[in-house]
Parts: sequence; structure tokens; C-alpha cells
Amino acid sequence: MTDGKLAVIGLGSIGSMALWQASRITDAVVGFEAATPAHGRSAVGGDTRLFRMIYRGNPDYYPILQRSQTLWAELEAETGQNILTRCGGLSIGTADGPYIRSILETTRLTGAEHQILSHEELAARYPQHNLRPDDIAIYDPNAGALRTDRAVTAAIAAAGANGATVRRNTRVDSVRETNDGVIVTSGDKSWTFDNAIIASGGWSNRLMPDYLKAATETKRIFLTWFVAKDASEFTPEKFPIFIRIYEDRSMYGAPAVDGVTVKATLDGRGGPTPNPDAVPRELTQAEIQETTETVTEFFPDLYSNIVRSDAFPDLYTKDGNPLLGRLKDASRIYCATGFSGAGFKNATGFGHIAAQEALGKQTFEGLDFVRPERFKTS
Ligand SMILES: Cc1cc2nc3c(=O)[nH]c(=O)nc-3n(C[C@H](O)[C@H](O)[C@H](O)COP(=O)(O)OP(=O)(O)OC[C@H]3O[C@@H](n4cnc5c(N)ncnc54)[C@H](O)[C@@H]3O)c2cc1C
Repeated sequence: MTDGKLAVIGLGSIGSMALWQASRITDAVVGFEAATPAHGRSAVGGDTRLFRMIYRGNPDYYPILQRSQTLWAELEAETGQNILTRCGGLSIGTADGPYIRSILETTRLTGAEHQILSHEELAARYPQHNLRPDDIAIYDPNAGALRTDRAVTAAIAAAGANGATVRRNTRVDSVRETNDGVIVTSGDKSWTFDNAIIASGGWSNRLMPDYLKAATETKRIFLTWFVAKDASEFTPEKFPIFIRIYEDRSMYGAPAVDGVTVKATLDGRGGPTPNPDAVPRELTQAEIQETTETVTEFFPDLYSNIVRSDAFPDLYTKDGNPLLGRLKDASRIYCATGFSGAGFKNATGFGHIAAQEALGKQTFEGLDFVRPERFKTS
């Protein structure tokens, strides 16, 4: 007899969704969380994450995004929470530049719904953006802002309603596989499960085998917020999520979901951080200067001083794709981590894949690009 069919270790962005999804299959599932689910020092911190169906890169993410979109709506319906603010999204860049070209190429392959906005259309519809002369945008009608702490709290509540057990303030020290199951220990306590999912985000490499420690690194990502001169111009109804990428500057952000502050943050600035429990929250002078310069250029209708900033950990892999799969063939330990600064939009989809596969069920075809074994050297 074991203590359950499945243990989920880490109840942050993806672990909470995996617990919820597993609880639809069995109530013999137990989640372990070192602190409390949705705590503000994890990758859940910072209020919102961008959700979008238009992106550049591997089209194989698209079916996962579609599943995620469906599951976000199911989580909202199941819990009565408004999790995804469906405000649309803009990808802004130079008309014939590499950013817009690569977005259009991926969109052609995925068939994602979109609209190309000319410079004039963009300027007329979204005057909040101070455009460069050759700017155009790709509009994503299905994009929006995910409310992170609400999402994780809702998933934990839905899992609990289905009979899942949640062990808060229980930091797992080790996960060990034997012939009888997976032994999970925390302090002087231990439990045995048929299978376990490691979903411990920036902390995961403490529990992972050496070949995955070598392929991953915890990074710090910071966020910044600004006050609008006229808050009514930056509401979700008028101001979609956005990403602007040029060779010299890049920024992404979200509307004022709290009615006051607009998130506008430099893109792609993740830097290594040795200890996920002590991520430096203060911005450096260089980060402040570049952020202020960029917001001054892009948004003349925002006061350019940073009114709020913070920083959080996420686990990055060497190729930027997640680790989703068993540690090796027939292993009882499954990894769902390494989301490399891009995991939240797909948290429901990734949680679904992890829960299904860890419980021995099929999901998507074509997931080789996320399998942990790709990093095995021998
Ligand atoms: C600032 C920032 C902005 C981002 N913007 C976007 C965006 O706009 N769109 C997007 O899609 N993605 C975005 N991302 C990426 C996305 O948020 C992350 O990829 C995702 O949240 C990672 O989820 P996770 O479950 O792996 O980690 P986390 O959410 O950090 O969860 C890990 C959990 O495991 C717990 N834990 C750790 N060790 C143990 C242990 N030993 N025992 C028990 N529990 C443990 C932790 O306490 C934590 O609760 C952003 C990330 C950051 C940091």
C-alpha cells in the first residue's frame, strides 16, 4: 500500500495545475508546497502574466496553447473566478524587421487568428503607443492578462474539491525511486507514492539528477510598473497586452488591471541568480536607467518613474524549452519544470500533460522537444 497514486512537489504555477488536473482522474493525489501555494516569492509573483496565441518560434507549442486556453476557461467556470482578462494583444515592431517577420511565419504555420494593423490603424486604435515611423502591429484577439495568484489559488481549490490533499509549509528534501514506489521525505517524515511530479520551479534542480542540474539554471526576472497620466486610457478595454521588440529596445506589459498601475517591463532580461530563496528584489542603476529611457520613448502618457518593481526566480534550460517527461523510460519520477521565463500562459496545458502522463495516460504527440532525456549525454 502506498500513500497515494501521485505526489506533486511544488504547488506554484504548474504544480497547482497538475494537481487540479490529476484530481480529475484520482483523489489519491497529494501536493507538497514548501511555503503556501501562490506565494509571492515564486514565479507566481507580480500579479499578471501575458497570455497569447501569437508568438514567434516553435509551432509545436500551438496545440498546447489551444488546450491551455480551453482549460483556463474551464478553471474559471469551475471556480467562478475571473482569471484571464481577455483584452487582446499587440506585437509591435518594424514592418519588415525580424520580429514581425518571425511572428508572421509562426502564425502562418499555426493558423492562429490575427489581424495585421498598419501604422495608421495602430496609431488610431492605440494612441497610448508612441510609434516609430515604420511600426506596424499584429493583433491577437485571443490574448490577455492572466491573474497569477487567482489562477493558482483557484486550481488548488478545485483540486481540493475533487479530493486532492494539500500539504502546505512542507518542503520536500528528497525524492527517491525504489521498486515499491517513490519515497518523498520532508524533515523526519516520509511518504511513498506510485509516481511523483517535480514541479518546484527555480528550486527544482535541488531535487533533480545531475544531468538535469547541468542543463538548467535559475534566473532572476524583474518587473516594473508605472502610473498613467490618465488611467482611463490604460484600462483592459482600451489597452491590450503588448510586446515591442527592436534591435535596440524591447518592452512588454499589461493594462492597469488594478485600475492604477500599468506593467511595462524590459523584455528578455533574465540573469543568473544563485539562490531562489534570496532573489535580489532591488533594481540595479543600469536596469532603472534602461527601463526609464524605454518607457519615456514608448509611452509619453505614463509618468516615467518606476512606482513599483520586483523580481522573481524561474528555472531556465539550455535550449529554452521546458522539461516535461519522465527522468528515464519507465521511471516513476516525472519532471514538470524549466519553463524558461515563458511557462505561465501554458500552465494549465503543461499541468494537464504532466498529470496525464505521470498517471500513465496519453496526451499530445510530438513532445520530443520537451523531454528531459534530450539533455542526456550518454
Ligand atoms: C517576472 C516574470 C515574468 C514572466 N512573464 C511571463 C509571461 O508574461 N507569460 C508567460 O507565459 N510566462 C511568464 N513568465 C514565466 C512563468 O511565470 C514561469 O515559467 C512559471 O510561472 C514557472 O512556474 P513553476 O511552477 O515552474 O515555478 P513556480 O511558480 O515558482 O512554482 C514552484 C513552487 O515550488 C515550490 N517549491 C520549491 N521547492 C520545493 C520543495 N523542495 N518542496 C515543496 N515545494 C517546493 C515553491 O515554493 C513554489 O511555490 C514570467 C516569469 C517571471 C518570473
